[in-house]
Amino acid sequence: MSKKEKIQVELEISTKSVNVQHAFCQNGHSLIDPSVKINGFAAIKVKIRAKNQEGLLFLDPVYGSYNNIEKGVTTPKGTIVEMFCPECDVSLTDEHEVCQVCSSPMFVFHLPKESIIEGCLKKGCMFHKLKIVDGEHQMKRLFEDSTLESFL
Ligand SMILES: [Zn+2]
Ligand SMILES: [Zn+2]
Repeated sequence: MSKKEKIQVELEISTKSVNVQHAFCQNGHSLIDPSVKINGFAAIKVKIRAKNQEGLLFLDPVYGSYNNIEKGVTTPKGTIVEMFCPECDVSLTDEHEVCQVCSSPMFVFHLPKESIIEGCLKKGCMFHKLKIVDGEHQMKRLFEDSTLESFL
C-alpha cells in the first residue's frame, strides 16, 4: 500500500510569508549570511560575476521579494550574471534549466530535504521557482500545515 517512490511537486507561491532559512551550494556550504539582514531575515550571500566585474550579491530571502543588495559591483538591468559559492567558488548555474520567461540561464540553491530553489540569472527578470522534492508523508504534512516553513 505504501508507495515509496519519490514524488516531485512544483508549487506556485504567491505569498510573501515564505522565507528561505537554509540554502546550500552543491558542496553543502551554507549560503545564508546572518550578518546581513534583508526584510529582517538573514540574506543569501553569493559571489557574482558580470562581464569583468566581480562582487557579492545578497539576495532577499523572502520568496517573491527582491530587495537584493549588490556589493562591489553594479549591474544594469538586463545583465546576465553568474553566481558562485563564496566558500568554494563552485558555479551555482543550473545546467539543466533555462528561464521560462526570457530563456536566460538559471541559478539553483539546494534546500534541506532535497528541495531546490531556482531563479533567473538575468537582472530584472523576476522568475523564480521553488521545487519541493520529497516523500509522500512529508507532502501530506506540508499540505496539512499549509506552511513551507519546515522545508526551507
Ligand atoms: Zn560551496
Ligand atoms: Zn528570466
